[in-house]
Amino acid sequence: MADTVNINERKTQAGYWEWEVGKDEVTVDPSLLILLGYNINELNNSLQSWQRLIRPDYIDAVCQKYNEHVISKGADPFVLEVGLINKNGAGTYILITGKAVKWNEQNKPVIMSGSYVNVTPFKEGEKELRHVKDLLTKTSQTALVGGWEIDLTTNKVIWTQVTKNIFEVPDSYVPDRSSPARFVKAENRAKLKKVVDRAINEGKPYDIELKIVTAKGKEKWTRAAGQPEFVDGKCVRLFGAFQDIDRLKLNEEALMQKNGQLQKAIAEKLDFLSVMSHEIRTPMNAVIGFTNLLLQNPRADQVEYLNVLKYSAENLLLLINDILDFNKIDAGKIDLENIAFDVRELCKNIQSAQQQEADKKDLALNINIDNKVPLSIKGDPMRLGQIITNLTANAIKFTTAGKVDINVKTVRQTAHTVTLYFEVTDTGIGIPEDKFNYIFEKFSQASIETTRKYGGTGLGLAITKRLLEMMGSNINVKSVEGRGSSFFFELKFKKAAATLPQTASAPIAAKANELAGKKILIVEDNPINVLVIKKFLQQWAMEFDVAQNGLIAVEKASANYYDLILMDLQMPEMDGFDATIAIRKLSAQHRQLPILALTASVVADMREKILEAGMNECVAKPFKPADLYATLSHYLTDSNIGIHA
Ligand code: ADP
Repeated sequence: MADTVNINERKTQAGYWEWEVGKDEVTVDPSLLILLGYNINELNNSLQSWQRLIRPDYIDAVCQKYNEHVISKGADPFVLEVGLINKNGAGTYILITGKAVKWNEQNKPVIMSGSYVNVTPFKEGEKELRHVKDLLTKTSQTALVGGWEIDLTTNKVIWTQVTKNIFEVPDSYVPDRSSPARFVKAENRAKLKKVVDRAINEGKPYDIELKIVTAKGKEKWTRAAGQPEFVDGKCVRLFGAFQDIDRLKLNEEALMQKNGQLQKAIAEKLDFLSVMSHEIRTPMNAVIGFTNLLLQNPRADQVEYLNVLKYSAENLLLLINDILDFNKIDAGKIDLENIAFDVRELCKNIQSAQQQEADKKDLALNINIDNKVPLSIKGDPMRLGQIITNLTANAIKFTTAGKVDINVKTVRQTAHTVTLYFEVTDTGIGIPEDKFNYIFEKFSQASIETTRKYGGTGLGLAITKRLLEMMGSNINVKSVEGRGSSFFFELKFKKAAATLPQTASAPIAAKANELAGKKILIVEDNPINVLVIKKFLQQWAMEFDVAQNGLIAVEKASANYYDLILMDLQMPEMDGFDATIAIRKLSAQHRQLPILALTASVVADMREKILEAGMNECVAKPFKPADLYATLSHYLTDSNIGIHA
């Protein structure tokens, strides 16, 4: 026997064994004892009761192998794996080979001997492998993902259990290359063939969704992904996965259906609002129109009531327009224009439109635009105008003394783009810091007293915020209570080649006595509206004719001379758009005739439609007398008449 030290140093993982069957004594290689954690002095290598070293669950297997070996008279080799118990209780696994080397007369082994090899490290690897495999199986079962592979050299096809489950084929099913195509719905087969062919020919992986009919006749959605493998430029293997995505698809469809219903509900709400606001605007037109008329020559005791009436009606109209506008923006029904305009001109127009309000409160209203701001930029002047107007009107409304500034600065510019900083500041009541976010929500005002004291809808800033978001920007506010507020934002524009004539419907300065004697055709089906317009035209000593619908308008325009046509849009028989198109076709002179749309609609796309139909401009209903006067005089002076093809 080798000495202890030497044995301890041996790294041998294999050795001999010998079993004297009759004596039931086993002699083992000392390395095995070391392997089991024993010192050679602790345990004699001739083991009397060797069974106690074998894990109980292996005893039967050892006995069975022994019996087989005996029965076959040594023909069946004695090869088996045995689990042993270590000194510290852990497990060691060995692979035993051996045979009976001496038999007695009864054909029973007297001595058996052989060798062993330590397989514990493999067992641990195998355990880990089994664990990973188990995990993979469970994961694929949970995710309903099945694997497959096609060996293109042997045409052998393998499907995992989950793939079989997805196709609902029996476990015994043997797939071949055309198996998936057999289950894929007829209309999807060409798609599958195309991607598989491409994967083989071009080496491209694929990932597609397919509808299949399972072996049990159930239709379901699957996701099929595949990938080719090449050796020496030749595709030798395709492998991939099938995933059952039926539930996902159903959820997606339900979601889409819900989304569709939501969109429909939003569209219906918008339609309802459009109809309602139109219905409300028509009588409002009359209320505001007649109030204006009465205010021109009021009875002293009624001035106050009339002013309240006018203020309330205008506020109501503002609310209607704001609600409609907000809902349009909310429903994504607003397309931004991208046309050339001049920021200076836009700010000047806003200033002149707001000047009157500022004057009433003795406030200075200044515009400061830095010299580097380009003359012409591309964007949506109407919406930008709406944003600056909202902020300026608020600044004036919430300021009692001091000034309101509209500032525009160049932040940075490249050859083709410019980023501008816009700011509207005031010296007004200010906003508490905890309300900075709140005021941008719809129908929210900083204080409950606001409506009573200042009016308003609480929608202006919500609209402003959304419009800026649509333009890829954000609105910010700085404010100190009692000292003033500042609203500011940045916008990036493309530079435009040259300044185009101003197109936004901003008020135009009025010139005196230009309208007298000019002849106008009023095309309007609502008698109250006609009455209101007539009263003003009479005051301005103008002549006029009335047509109740588009058809009559075309007839009248062809039979008579008019300097200008005021055209309502929604009318029976023929609407304002078709009437304009027909009138423009009458003669060269009719192509130059100013036609102004009378519209209660404030939205941007309406203005586009109006210009497209060949009208020159929109006049908002109900109109402010001064605005109508200014617009009429603008179009009734020769230099401003446009030519229409
Ligand atoms: P509205 O002006 O119709 O009330 P807005 O959405 O335009 O609605 O503004 C919301 C609220 O924000 C206002 O009611 C007011 O309380 C506050 N606010 C807006 N601008 C200013 C300002 N320049 N100074 C003080 N408060 C302001």
